[in-house]
Amino acid sequence: MQTADKLKRMTEAELDAATGKDGALVIESYLPSYRRGCCNCNARPVVKGIINGKIAYDGDMCGPCTWGDAASQFPSNWNGDA
Ligand SMILES: [Zn+2]
Repeated sequence: MQTADKLKRMTEAELDAATGKDGALVIESYLPSYRRGCCNCNARPVVKGIINGKIAYDGDMCGPCTWGDAASQFPSNWNGDA
């Protein structure tokens, strides 16, 4: 499984360019990061949102804390019908 641990974070300019006129950032995929535990419950991995191979959403919560359902503990459930 691919992880976000080796990916770079987007710069502010790249984030601006990826943000739509409505202010929404459209994440392409979500990848797990195992470096740190969830800030809420300390579970790993935590959720990172990826655009163009870089981290656009630098989350610090695990799947269940991000999305509020137990199935989200599995990164394989983070990207729809993966
Ligand atoms: Zn959590």
